[in-house]
Amino acid sequence: MAKPKVDQDLCIACGICSQVCPEVFDVGPDGKSVVKTDADLNAACIQDAIDQCPVGAISLE
Ligand code: SF4
Repeated sequence: MAKPKVDQDLCIACGICSQVCPEVFDVGPDGKSVVKTDADLNAACIQDAIDQCPVGAISLE
């Protein structure tokens, strides 16, 4: 399963992905999203987070 990645330069710290998919995304120290070390890479919500990110900052590696 592909691992999601958040582009820290694009992320505007809106918090949507960590609300839509808390199994995978967390809010980092600067408010931007980070992928959890124990992220569930099979979570169906990953695609929802990708689709809802307003700046397209989430991609799959
Ligand atoms: S939805 Fe996109 S812009 Fe918003 S916190 Fe997540 S990665 Fe950042």
